[in-house]
Amino acid sequence: MDMVKSNYAHIKEIKEYAINNKIPIMKPEGIDFLTTFIIKHQITNVLEIGTAIGYSAIMMTLCNPNLKVTTIERDEERYLEAVKNIKKMQLEDRITLIFNDALKTKLDDKYDLIFIDAAKSQNIKFFELFERNLIDGGFIITDNMYFHGLVHKNEKEIKSRNVRGIVRKIKDYIVFLKNNSNYNTAIYDVGDGIAVSEKKAKGGA
Ligand code: SAH
Ligand code: MG
Repeated sequence: MDMVKSNYAHIKEIKEYAINNKIPIMKPEGIDFLTTFIIKHQITNVLEIGTAIGYSAIMMTLCNPNLKVTTIERDEERYLEAVKNIKKMQLEDRITLIFNDALKTKLDDKYDLIFIDAAKSQNIKFFELFERNLIDGGFIITDNMYFHGLVHKNEKEIKSRNVRGIVRKIKDYIVFLKNNSNYNTAIYDVGDGIAVSEKKAKGGA
């Protein structure tokens, strides 16, 4: 009997670990959207902010055999779990894990997709720090634009001051994206709300 577990079994385990440890990995709807997008736009080089335990990075690499992901995580326990998961699936040569605070990370490479899925109140900072790593015509995708539906709720109904603060920051980020004339942004009603910002190609060419 072949004792090597199938990818499917590993993914099932990763999802179970996420549930048991309350790790906010992308929902199936969001993963479907992201992987369909990657295939449609022939994305091959992704930068992800917020690895958690490697689930979304793994799902992205599995949908396109030519795709590589570089992904950043600041939480040590999650980073170590991601290392384990990526090893189990033998994706070490396609997924590069960086254990650091993304806001303290400077990268030189260029990517055709940057996926922002980290601290929701820092989205403008992540965008401004990493857009220099995006190719012309590339995309920045941001997850959790609805923040569990709270972005569309009356602020008075949100009890926690901290949560209200995050919701305000997400609203600021929406304004920032809409006003950013270097990008065309659309927010899709998928999963927890997904923003796709397409960097306009430089004019005059
Ligand atoms: N993309 C993952 C889920 C990420 S959850 C998936 O769908 O599978 C968000 C993660 O971002 C958390 O693990 C959190 O520790 C990490 N994070 C938040 N702020 C960060 C920062 N400034 N730098 C690096 N990681 C950060
Ligand atoms: Mg998310």
